[in-house]
Amino acid sequence: MAADAESPKDASAITRALNRAVLDTLPFADTRDFDDARRGFVGSLPEVEIKNDAGRVVWTLRDYAFLAGAEAPPTVNPSLWRQARLNLSHGLFQVTDRIYQVRGFDISNMTLIEGDRGLIVIDPLISTEVARAGLDLYAQHRGRRPVTAVIYSHSHTDHYGGVRGAVDEGDVSAGRVEIWAPDRFMQEVVSEAVLAGTAMVRRAQFQFGATLPRGPRGQVDAGLGKVTSRGTVTLIPPTRIVREPFETHTIDGIEIVFQLTPETEAPAEMHMFYPALRALNLAENATHNLHNIYPIRGAQARDANAWAKYLNVALDRFGRDADVAFAQHHWPAWGRARVLEFLGAQRDLYKYLHDQTVRLMNHGYKPAEIAERLALPKSLAGTWHVRGYYGTLSHNAKSVYQRYIGWYDANPANLNPLPPVERGRKYVDYMGGAERVIARAREDFARGEYRFVAEAMSHVVFADPTNAEARGLGADALEQLGYVAESSTWRNAYLLGALELRRGLPATAARAPVSPDVVRAMSLDLFFDYLGVRLNGEKAEGRRLVLNWVFSDLGRRYVLNLENCALTYLADREADGADATVTLDRAVLDSIVLRELTVADAVQRGRVRVEGDPARVVELFELLDDFTLMFEVVEPKRSSAAPAPPGS
Ligand SMILES: [Zn+2]
Repeated sequence: MAADAESPKDASAITRALNRAVLDTLPFADTRDFDDARRGFVGSLPEVEIKNDAGRVVWTLRDYAFLAGAEAPPTVNPSLWRQARLNLSHGLFQVTDRIYQVRGFDISNMTLIEGDRGLIVIDPLISTEVARAGLDLYAQHRGRRPVTAVIYSHSHTDHYGGVRGAVDEGDVSAGRVEIWAPDRFMQEVVSEAVLAGTAMVRRAQFQFGATLPRGPRGQVDAGLGKVTSRGTVTLIPPTRIVREPFETHTIDGIEIVFQLTPETEAPAEMHMFYPALRALNLAENATHNLHNIYPIRGAQARDANAWAKYLNVALDRFGRDADVAFAQHHWPAWGRARVLEFLGAQRDLYKYLHDQTVRLMNHGYKPAEIAERLALPKSLAGTWHVRGYYGTLSHNAKSVYQRYIGWYDANPANLNPLPPVERGRKYVDYMGGAERVIARAREDFARGEYRFVAEAMSHVVFADPTNAEARGLGADALEQLGYVAESSTWRNAYLLGALELRRGLPATAARAPVSPDVVRAMSLDLFFDYLGVRLNGEKAEGRRLVLNWVFSDLGRRYVLNLENCALTYLADREADGADATVTLDRAVLDSIVLRELTVADAVQRGRVRVEGDPARVVELFELLDDFTLMFEVVEPKRSSAAPAPPGS
């Protein structure tokens, strides 16, 4: 393909008109958010560009200079352009007496509370480099204070990953610094990152657009913030867990009322109210956009009903005593009236989404029909902070449906459809061949029927991925869909889809990044679950294997059983007549999972002791698949799941 065919194109006349129309339907004259995003500004870096020790840029706002003008280019939805400009605000901000936030140093905010002895750090961003830079910025303006406590508001990486940039683990183990987290924090951190890790990391490229070029025809924002930082991700396990629905603790002289909000934006999450400071921290349950009941990177569907309920309880219990409400993304809402309006609208947004979806579901509407029909109530549609810059009503409605009754729409024609390649071939054949499909699609493209053109071209590409014309037209359709999308995540997904149709998949054998801290935090059960999802069922056909595992430093034993192509295990058991008994320390296991050591090497160096037949241990590891990050998304898979090289 010529270089020109690979480049992003301009907005079509129809896209321009659609984007222009947005200007007349939304209250762009209401610029209070811009004032609020600047309010309390203390200072920032002259240029926000943060590097790691090796000199690699892990965070930069320099690439976003194109957002300087208020007027959106025709290739960006003006509503999203507005949000993208708001998310560009950066620096240290005073929220209220004793409460500060570092914003624009990552996708998330780091909140800092000045305690009696030092600083309470809430959510130290994604990576150590940006967390350190944020604390340096604070110190430059407010003086250096020791960190006396860390609080993780919830179990997503952008709220804990930078912790080693904020505190030294020695201070935590010595009890000088406490780390607080909501109930089930560690289980949720580790399970999300490990079992489905590779698929989620790859799909997250489509959600955040981190691998897209920045610019008016590329990535402009990620809804909650600009994008995710790319430094060193760490984790220090919490030392204090909030377990009750409400708990009040005084931390470094600051009274904090914790409100647990499980199964909301994250499975483990909590709000905080600071009574003496009259400030309410809503973690990530009330931000300046409609959030995700299901993020398109993939996750278990969240509970929209619980989400609304916990916001309602927060409003009832704390709302009247709060002079300011803020979250771990975006900017605060100040003043009692504004706090009540903000929280009430956010509550009703999630409740409306939940109730109307379930109502239509019970009337027999299918997910796609509900998604098409649902619109914001008129009373909310002009409220900036409920608009879908991150989630959308459309995919959120499908997710509410999914949470209750799953992926199946009950039409048996959809119960067992052909898989994408076979289906694509049949569609193309029925429609009279690829040329005719493309000719019809060109007519539809000219009429702005981008959604169906994208679908039809996807069938042609799955039938024949070498059809350059179909790839190109499919890319063009996805691109225009991206240009009109109000949601940053939809825009990113469409534009990355277009890019991969035009250029193909980047050739790399990279694996999904895994944080060593997260591996160390894995339970032994989860380790054996992880082995299970790597077992290649086809290769395991007819194999029978029983291994005893002894973790000598932990005093734990496991039996691992391979039978019927399934790996199962029992904790605290030992099998008589096992094929072998494997004895090792936990640290050796971590090294193997992190690929610092192969099993064969570990056996050879005596770091894993095997009684019985060592070949049977190696045999198990030969049956495990390896996952590479860059699998095909917008075109057929080129190769079937490949087994790992021996001994990995
Ligand atoms: Zn977040």
